Amino acid sequence: MSTRASQYAARVERRDELSAHLVRLTLAVDPALESTGIPDEWVGLVVPGQFQSRYYTVRSYDSGVLVLDVVLHDVGLVTEWVVRGDCVGAAVKITEPKGSFDPPADASWLLLVGDLTGMPAMARICESVDLPTRIWAEVEDALPGYLPDAADVTWLEASSGTSRLAEVVESIEWPDGDGYFWMAGESAQMRAIRKYLMRDRRLPATAYDVMGYWRSSAGRQPRAVDPGPIWLAGKAQGLSDEEIWAQYDEAQYKKAQS
Ligand SMILES: Cc1cc2nc3c(=O)[nH]c(=O)nc-3n(C[C@H](O)[C@H](O)[C@H](O)COP(=O)(O)OP(=O)(O)OC[C@H]3O[C@@H](n4cnc5c(N)ncnc54)[C@H](O)[C@@H]3O)c2cc1C
Repeated sequence: MSTRASQYAARVERRDELSAHLVRLTLAVDPALESTGIPDEWVGLVVPGQFQSRYYTVRSYDSGVLVLDVVLHDVGLVTEWVVRGDCVGAAVKITEPKGSFDPPADASWLLLVGDLTGMPAMARICESVDLPTRIWAEVEDALPGYLPDAADVTWLEASSGTSRLAEVVESIEWPDGDGYFWMAGESAQMRAIRKYLMRDRRLPATAYDVMGYWRSSAGRQPRAVDPGPIWLAGKAQGLSDEEIWAQYDEAQYKKAQS
């Protein structure tokens, strides 16, 4: 394990295409991670030639074998690496798992809402939590067998880069009694839903967990400094990761000054 942000070394053992937009990576992690046991737990993934991590849900973890299901966006740092298809055998870094799903002890039902990026967490929550559960899943392609057969799922068709999950949630018929609402997907949709839950449904913060998992292209700026070439040049010179990070920090500083 590296000392920087508790990173673990891992190797990609398998790459399986689950659908046109979802790729499963199976990784061997050494030394083994300690799972939090929280069903929406995630890790940071740093792919070769990059410093920035992207978060991925632990779809499953057992004895050093970690499974991550990666959504292919139109563009994106991890997306572009996974699309290439030559990632098997690659050495990557993984950060320590963290989780956030925390239903109150007296919750009598569960509502789960997510787009494709939320599917790994919704699948794992369904497998681990024994409460009556309804799911709304917004996906580009059919994913037969991805959620348990018994799950009560409303499938919503997603069209490239747009989400209407906020609108869907505002029309949900809420179950009686106290429960727990969990939702993940595109950040603008999540912001709208947080407002709705607080202002219209007046839910206490303990009754829901709404997480922005990704941001759509609108308004995104290209990265100021691409770490890829710096990493490759540093490796070619035999520099340590810390030395390369220092060079990257300096390049970012210079760019910000210019
Ligand atoms: C707790 C948590 C758990 C998650 N679990 C999963 C999971 O299990 N599976 C999963 O697939 N995702 C998951 N995500 C979401 C994932 O981290 C993001 O989708 C991540 O951004 C994908 O990384 P990427 O490198 O492919 O794309 P990024 O580079 O981060 O790009 C993401 C989006 O930004 C846009 N974009 C990127 N760069 C630019 C640019 N220069 N100009 C314009 N637009 C741009 C792209 O259109 C793309 O839609 C999770 C996120 C969180 C916070």
